[in-house]
Parts: sequence; structure tokens; C-alpha cells
Amino acid sequence: MALKTGEQYVESIKGLGLEAHVLGEVSGNLTDHPLVRPSINAVAKTYDCAHDEATKPLFRARSSLTGEEINRFTLLHQSTDDLITKVRLQRHCGNVTCCCFQRCVGWDAANAIFSVTYECDQAHGTNYHERFRTYWARVQTEDLVVDGAMTDPKGDRSKRPGEQADPDLFLRVVERDSDGVVVRGAKFHQTGMVNSHEILVMPTLGMREGEEDWAICFAVPTNAPGLHYIYGRQASDTRKLEGSDLDVGNPAFGSQEIMTVFDNVFVPNENIFLDGEIDQSGKLVERFAGYHRQSYGGCKVGVGDVLIGATALIARMNGVDRASHIRDKIVEMIHLNETMFSCGVACSALGHQTAAGNYEMDMLLANVCKQNVTRFPYEMARLATDIAGGLVGTLPSAKDLEGPVAGPYIRKYLAAAEGFDTIDRVKVLRLIENMTTGAGAVAYLIESMHGAGSPMAQRLVIARQADIESKIALAKRLLNID
Ligand code: SF4
Repeated sequence: MALKTGEQYVESIKGLGLEAHVLGEVSGNLTDHPLVRPSINAVAKTYDCAHDEATKPLFRARSSLTGEEINRFTLLHQSTDDLITKVRLQRHCGNVTCCCFQRCVGWDAANAIFSVTYECDQAHGTNYHERFRTYWARVQTEDLVVDGAMTDPKGDRSKRPGEQADPDLFLRVVERDSDGVVVRGAKFHQTGMVNSHEILVMPTLGMREGEEDWAICFAVPTNAPGLHYIYGRQASDTRKLEGSDLDVGNPAFGSQEIMTVFDNVFVPNENIFLDGEIDQSGKLVERFAGYHRQSYGGCKVGVGDVLIGATALIARMNGVDRASHIRDKIVEMIHLNETMFSCGVACSALGHQTAAGNYEMDMLLANVCKQNVTRFPYEMARLATDIAGGLVGTLPSAKDLEGPVAGPYIRKYLAAAEGFDTIDRVKVLRLIENMTTGAGAVAYLIESMHGAGSPMAQRLVIARQADIESKIALAKRLLNID
């Protein structure tokens, strides 16, 4: 059924019966688990926004595969306008969830696989593109969440996949028959994995001759036999188990990262989209990374908007909002945030059509966008911490607020500027804490640094894409140098 509501989405995930290892226990009731629930709420928002009258136009689009109206999170981009709308939509989702809403990874993977399978078929006479069209039409029709899985454990990073002491440190094909393949390995940092219906697996780097078994791209449902999920910890995550929202910072929404183990998972032929074509693997990695680096110019900006708002609010509550240095620091935060957004919009506006027909962002600008994202949120977090003051790291707990002796002292001495409630001040400080040093910092800071590739990965692409020789030619022409 196309265009699910948030509630229908949660029910559909429940129906998968997924299990995960969470804090040392195997949990089978993930959608109601207090550590997991905020993250599934964030994904549910991407469904509800497609039904909210105010956001419907942004979140709905027409499928190029089926002609049906679909949730934009499954769209194969058909124009540069679609690419720009993607970034605007991601900013909106960041605004309303203040976390990673998890649904873009599969979306970006799909757009990359769509064009790479087409080019692979042209080069090798394979039929991956048709398979992928059929697969993705179902994803659109059933309005599914797809996790895009790329990052392998990599073991000793000075060694290639086949040189590792354990070849499974890069996910690979271990068996083949006429019906499909069996794969073994793991994918790390999997955003939203147990909130997803499907997984799209891609190789983690460009493969070379002799590495054909590692050049594999495929889809499996998240409840396929042989899959094991180990839930990642976040700073202060157990506050979600303490029964009080006040200490959590962002009680409604959160993110999720999972270590996913593929222990001899069978993949049928119809779900295989690359198998041994090593010359296509590097292209797939770069294209997926490019789309996701574009995404960061929307989602992290949306979260940054909330941080700027919370910082301006705490300045007011502290009675310092009119001080010129505070105002200037807020302006600096806005400048940094809008610079990232400008990069996201710019790489979308300068996108181009691929041979397969969908649209791809400008690769150089997408990498510049993500490079900025590896830095600016950290500077914004520094400025927010500066303005919020030391209480962001020393606030007493919600339980002490309820205490008969400590409670009245805390309320008396945490009093804010006139007109502001003490508890509201605590809420704002906890939100800033959450985003800069707590559970929310996983999405806002660590993900900004390493998600879609660590800073050096972007610098390599920037160096490759920038065409330095043409710039040297410009200087030489100006100076009449042969
Ligand atoms: Fe989407 Fe951003 Fe999360 Fe990636 S990091 S899945 S782009 S919200």
C-alpha cells in the first residue's frame, strides 16, 4: 500500500518480528523498547509528513517507475528541482525531529544503484538494471524503509580484503548455486537498521582483480535468516530507561546505529544487482557517497536550526540575549548553518541526468558540502556550549528535582530571568547537552564527521574532481606562460 501513515509504518515493522541484542539482552519487542522507540518515532515522522496538509507537497512525488504517487523518500530523482527538494525536505525533517531520521541512506543507495546497474548492463551485458527497477517499484508501492549498508569492518586497513587474516572482515560471497549466492560478513554503523523493512548492501570500496567475491550488491529483507543485529550505545542512552523525560533532552526522537552481522545469508538471483563486476564497484561507492554527502547539506542543517533556536532561547532565559558578543555568536552559528545549506542546494542545482535517466548531484560540490559538515556542527556546538554556560554539564537530575530537600533548593537557585520557568530552562539546557555531548551528539557530531565517509574521503574526491590542471592553465594564460 502506497503512502503509509506513521502508525501503519510502525505496525509494519512490528510485523517483521525482528530481534536485536540491546544492552546484553536479546529483545524481540523492539518497537516498544525505550531505547529504540525514539528512533522509530523519527522514521515515522517521514511518513506522517506525507499526510500533513502543510508538508504533503514536499513529501509526495510521482514515481517514474509506476506513475503512482509515492513518498518522496523513495523517489528516483527526475530533475535538479527534485534534488533541491530533497535537501529542503531533509532540513524540514531535521527541524521536527532534531536527530537522524534514518530514511535517506536507502534512498541515496537506490539512486546510485539505479544508474550504476544501467551502466554495468551496457558494459557487461548483465540484466541488473531491470531487476533493480522491479525491486524498487515494489519498495515505492509498499512505501518501505530501506537501509543502505556500505561500511565493512575492514580489519587491518593497510590490507586488501583478501589479505585480511579473516576474509569476512569485508562482506563477501561464500557460496553460489543456480538460485543465488550466500554472503558472510558484517556492516557497521547501520543507521536505522532495525527500523527498516529491507537492506540494500553495497561494497565498501572499489574492488580489484581477484576481489570479485567482494564486489557484490544486493537486497534482502531485514528478517532474512542469518542476520544478527547488535544495538550501538550512545552517550547517556540509559537516561531513556530512567522513567523521566526531563533528563533525556530530546525525549520524543532519537537515532539508531546497529552492527549488523550476515552469517551465511542467502540472496536470490533476482535481488542481486552487482556480482563480480569489479570495474563498477568503485563507481557505486563514489556515487552513493556523493548522494549522501549532498543529504548532509539538508539534515544536519535542520538539526542545526534547532540548536541555534535552543541557544538563542537559553541566552534569553539567562538574560544575556542583548549582549553584543552573544548576538554575534548566534549570527556566526547562522552563517555556518546556512553555508552548509548553500552547499546542499548548490550541488543539487548543478546536478545532471545520468545515462539511466535519473538525476545525480554535482560530485565536487557534494563533497565540499560534506567537508564543511565535518567541521561546522562542531563549531556550532562550541558556540552553543559557550553561550549556554557551565550548567549544560552540571545540572542536577530530574529525580533530585523531585526530592523533598534538594528539589526546593534546585528550583530556587536555577531560577531564570524574569518571565521564564525554571523547569523550561532545565529542558532547554538538557536539549543542548543532548545535542553537543549526549545521545543526540552521535547524530549531530559523530555522524557529521564520519557518516557518508570521513573527512579524508571527501578530500580525495575533491582532489580528483577539481581539475587542477585547468586552473594552472588559467594562471598560465593570464601570464603568457607556455
Ligand atoms: Fe538522513 Fe542525515 Fe540520517 Fe543520513 S545522517 S540518514 S542524511 S538524517
